[in-house]
Amino acid sequence: MTNALSKMMAERDWILADGATGTNLFNMGLSSGDAPEMWNVEHPDRIEKLYAMAVDAGSDLFLTNSFGGNAARLKLHGAQKRARELSRISAEIGREVADRRDRPVVVAGSVGPTGEIMAPMGSLTHELAVEIFHEQAEGLKEGGADVLWLETISAPEEYKAAAEAFKLADMPWCGTMSFDTAGRTMMGLTSADMAVMVEKLDHKPLAFGANCGVGASDLMRTVLGFVAQGTERAIVAKGNAGIPKYVDGHIHYNGTPDLMADYAVLARDAGATIIGGCCGTMPEHLSKMREALETRPRGDRPTLDQITNALGPFSSAVDGTEDNSGDTPQPTRRNRRRRG
Ligand SMILES: [Zn+2]
Repeated sequence: MTNALSKMMAERDWILADGATGTNLFNMGLSSGDAPEMWNVEHPDRIEKLYAMAVDAGSDLFLTNSFGGNAARLKLHGAQKRARELSRISAEIGREVADRRDRPVVVAGSVGPTGEIMAPMGSLTHELAVEIFHEQAEGLKEGGADVLWLETISAPEEYKAAAEAFKLADMPWCGTMSFDTAGRTMMGLTSADMAVMVEKLDHKPLAFGANCGVGASDLMRTVLGFVAQGTERAIVAKGNAGIPKYVDGHIHYNGTPDLMADYAVLARDAGATIIGGCCGTMPEHLSKMREALETRPRGDRPTLDQITNALGPFSSAVDGTEDNSGDTPQPTRRNRRRRG
């Protein structure tokens, strides 16, 4: 247990992760067609600011600006040969921000999906996926990341390939998937399936969980799905700040800082250890989340009704796990008080 995250998890009841990367960078002037990872070399000051804003707002852990920093994704921008370099620099900037603090801050090297479909459905072989993830993992390691952080994954094959790559890099890691399709990932995985899958990996994550997806309510239901499997592994909850809506030509998230504060406390009470936001989660949300986690006492595990009463309705009546445990009632349809 020599890495910074394991040490922090041993000492702490909950850990506040960071919020949005994309939403914050767009606010700083990033265009939607640009590769955010190029800013690691073109605008390192803005990346430093991105990290510092999260830490200043109370985050104990932040993700590096390397989500699309694998060769497959960078190829879209003609930068496929720079995967290792851009990932390394994203972590170097993070290391500087973290080491200037007088409290421990974990630098988590973000690794997103390749954007390609894996065999047998698609053309990306397991071997090549491992190679792509391994290259990025080595860059993040060189730059000083404490742990690697796989996120927004849909396909179990891709999650497994990343786990194998992270073993080659000899790095501890966490990994989340995005449950954005009626409680399942785009490739059909349920929360129950994921909880089973991670325990079968050779190189298991320190924590696993869900990020992004639909709204905070759906994400909470996914967390309860992990817990229902009896997992003893730490759970990550990184939900979006509400539901995205187009307002005046840009995407706006309707989750207020107060809503995200409620979400953070519910996520902790549901059993999540590492709690943060995803798209739309700004520093003002993180500050409120921190304050709520510090001041509100731990409560009982929330029911689905308590979740929808606090955070709004689910996007779908069920989350797919009812197939795994056929006798589970579907409480989303009963006793739900309507919100204003
Ligand atoms: Zn997101």
